[in-house]
Amino acid sequence: MSTTAVSAQKLAELDPVIEELGFPRDPDNLYLQTVSTMLQAADIIDLKHRVKIILAQPKNEIMVHFPVRMDDGHHRLFKGYRVQHNNALGPYKGGLRFHHNVHLDDVKSLAFLMTMKCSLVRVPFGGGKGGVKVNPREHSVTEMERVTRRFCSAIMNSIGPEYDIPAPDVGTTAQHMAWFADTYMMSNEGKDANTGLRVVTGKPVEFGGSLGREKATGQGVVDTLVELLPEVGLKVAGMKVSVLGFGNVGSWAARILQDMGAKVIAVADHTGAIRSDSGFDCHALAEHCRIEGGVKGFPGDTITTDEFYQTPVDVMVPAALEQMITSREAQMIKAKVIAEGANAPTTPAGDRILAERGIEVVPAILANAGGVTVSYFEWVQNKTSSYWDIEQVDRELNRHMVMAARRTVLARQKYGVDLRTAAYIAALEHIGKAYSVRGIFP
Ligand code: GLU
Repeated sequence: MSTTAVSAQKLAELDPVIEELGFPRDPDNLYLQTVSTMLQAADIIDLKHRVKIILAQPKNEIMVHFPVRMDDGHHRLFKGYRVQHNNALGPYKGGLRFHHNVHLDDVKSLAFLMTMKCSLVRVPFGGGKGGVKVNPREHSVTEMERVTRRFCSAIMNSIGPEYDIPAPDVGTTAQHMAWFADTYMMSNEGKDANTGLRVVTGKPVEFGGSLGREKATGQGVVDTLVELLPEVGLKVAGMKVSVLGFGNVGSWAARILQDMGAKVIAVADHTGAIRSDSGFDCHALAEHCRIEGGVKGFPGDTITTDEFYQTPVDVMVPAALEQMITSREAQMIKAKVIAEGANAPTTPAGDRILAERGIEVVPAILANAGGVTVSYFEWVQNKTSSYWDIEQVDRELNRHMVMAARRTVLARQKYGVDLRTAAYIAALEHIGKAYSVRGIFP
C-alpha cells in the first residue's frame, strides 16, 4: 500500500490554515488530527484556500445547559452540544451521542466527519453532530427520556426537518429518536405537524423509521469490504474477523459477516475481551450483550485487551470509540485489513504505523457511511409519505457504498495515496465543485 501519511504534529507546524485559524497545537486533540488529515488531502488536489478555511471550522457551535428532574425528585444540570459543521450540500446531518466523555472538540470532529461522509457517499446532506454529557448506564429509562426531551427542547430552535436532522449515535437508539421526534412534533403542532417527523432519522419502524436502518452502518461496513477485499486477495467466506465494540455497528457487522460465512473469533468491549477459535455465534452474543450490557460472561476464552489486538485475523473491525488505535495498539495488531466501523478510531500516529506494517485501513468516512445513507432514505420516505421494502433499502444502500468505494479507489490510483487520503479527496472534490458553482456570499 502506498502512503503519504504525514504526522498531525508535522502538519500543525506546516499547514498555513492551522496557523491562520490559531488552532491549539495539542497533537492528541482529535479535532486537530481530523482537520490536519483533511488539509493534507486538500493540498494534494489544490483545493481553494477559501474552501479549506471554511471546512476547517464548523459554521455553528451550540452549547446548552438544561436541568432534568431525577427519579428521586432532585434536579441535575446537563451540558449538551450541537455542532453544525457545513451545509453546502444540504441540511446539517448527524447523530446525537449520550456519553460521559462528550466534549466540544470531539463533537466538532464528528460533525466534520459527517460532512466528509455525506459528500463521499453523495447523499444531499451536510455535516452535524450533537451530544449530551451523561452516562446512560447511571440513569433509569424514565430519567433518560426526560434528558432526551429536555435536550430536544433546548436545541429545538436551532434544528429542523429541512435544516438540521439528528440521528442515533453512541448511547442513543431508535427509542431516543422517538422521544425526540415526539417532543419536537408536540411543540410544533399546527397544520403541518407531520413535517416534524423528519426532524430525526433512525426512528422505530412503527413511528416513521426505515426498514434496514438499525443494521445499516454494519451492513455498509460489510458492503464496503465485499467491494474492496478482492483488491487484497481476500473474500468474506471463511475469513477470520475480530470486532472491537459490540454495540449497534459492531454487532451488526459481525452478524452479517457470520451469515456470509466469516468466522468472528475475537471480540472486545468495555466489559472485557473473549476469543473462540471456532468462531462465535454472533446472534447469541448480540442477545447476551442486550441482556448483560457487554460481552463479559459469554462462553469463550477470556483474554486481555492486548491479546485481543494480537489475535491474528484477516479483518479487524474497530466499532467502539475514537482514538482507540494509537501507536501502541497499531504495533500489536495482527490483521491484514482494518475496516473502521467507528468514527476516527485510529490516531494519525497509529495510522502511520499501520501503513508501515502494510495493514490496509478502510477509513471511517467510507466504511461507516451506511448509517447516514439509510437515514437519508428514511428522510425521503417520510417526505414522500412512502415505505420502501427491505430489498429496496439494501439495494440502494449497496449502490451508494459500492460507488463510494470505487470513487475512493480511483482517487487512490490517480494520486498514489492511502485509502484515507483518497476518501477525503473524493469527498473534497465534490464539495469543492459545489463551492465553485455557488460562490461565497455576498
Ligand atoms: N451517527 C451515525 C454516524 O456517525 C449516523 C448519522 C445519521 O444517520 O445521521 O454516521
